[in-house]
Amino acid sequence: MSTRLSPREILDKLVSFPTVSSETNLPLIDWVESYLQSHGIAVHRHPHETDPAKAAVFAHVGPEIAGAVVLSGHTDVVPVEGQPWSSDPFEVVERDGKLFGRGTCDMKGFDALAIWAMVEGHYANLARPLQLALSYDEEIGCTGAAPLIESMAAKFPKGSAVIVGEPSMMGAVTGHKGGAGFRVHVRGFEVHSSLMHTGVNAIMYGAKLIEWANDMNAANRAQEPNPVAATFEPPWTTVHVGTISGGTAHNITALDCHFGLDFRFVPGDDSAEWLARARAKAAEIEGEMQAVVPDTHIEMRETFAVPALMPEEAGEAETLVRQLTGDNTPRVVSYGTEGGHFQSAGYSTVICGPGDIAQAHQPDEYLTVAQFEAGQRFMEKLLTSCS
Ligand SMILES: [Zn+2]
Repeated sequence: MSTRLSPREILDKLVSFPTVSSETNLPLIDWVESYLQSHGIAVHRHPHETDPAKAAVFAHVGPEIAGAVVLSGHTDVVPVEGQPWSSDPFEVVERDGKLFGRGTCDMKGFDALAIWAMVEGHYANLARPLQLALSYDEEIGCTGAAPLIESMAAKFPKGSAVIVGEPSMMGAVTGHKGGAGFRVHVRGFEVHSSLMHTGVNAIMYGAKLIEWANDMNAANRAQEPNPVAATFEPPWTTVHVGTISGGTAHNITALDCHFGLDFRFVPGDDSAEWLARARAKAAEIEGEMQAVVPDTHIEMRETFAVPALMPEEAGEAETLVRQLTGDNTPRVVSYGTEGGHFQSAGYSTVICGPGDIAQAHQPDEYLTVAQFEAGQRFMEKLLTSCS
């Protein structure tokens, strides 16, 4: 299989694997691994710690030295259930200058270009190495990035500039908010609601924590944002409850209440401190509950944590991307990426990839042919700059 495939042929292949985050991504990883190996490229896979159906893959081409440009992408895609698609989501269909298919935009288009660039780089005489990092589970809270980064650092010389190819219309994005979420379970005590002073209504105590979230939003909004935060919309850290369930009948104090409590942090806000504040508030409410019935509690399970991407002062990755694209517009986004994890691990990081985030996660998701070609030109310039 040592034929050199075009970016489009690689994209067709990647999209054909239905790598929805809840499903296995191994057939895709197997394919990438054997394709790169067929060209004699050094590849490693990092199996998921607990889920045998998932793995990440990473590779290195060029001299065995530090300072590589790392091309970072995720292999998973969001589900297609309930979405009206005009064609098979797992087949690339070209219509009106657009490549339709799940993941064409987010972000198998970039993955295909990165794999293509690795093979081209392998046959070129690179002075600066290129590395590829393809993760799992990005769409369910960027949980695959940290273990991949750690595993990669143990196998290869450390890279110095990371390009995360999330859709940015090939512009340089230098910052994004961080995120973290809790699943909250309030366990109360059931009595007839006529005697509610002897029971613990899980919904009503849960509402106190939700009211704390409302207070935090109002307080954050009232504050003067720092200069980095000021570039975001909105320029403050937000706390959000998107789902809630609980209770069994109108005349029973609710035994259980479950809800999600999610934070989006502006860069510079200490996420650990915010999580601690939420836990402290929950502990205070729990104390009130236990004063009524001792055997009640509030449990808070952390579901994800995505570090913010902080714009860097003259960052190496940003400088490189601006040289290659000629784009000098300052730009931050409100979606989270694996970039925050790379930056936390000490890599200079920037986001730059083909496609518009507005097309991500949609029915009839597409990447324009023009953007895909712009991505290829970007990779060609990158290869030249590494030669
Ligand atoms: Zn993505």
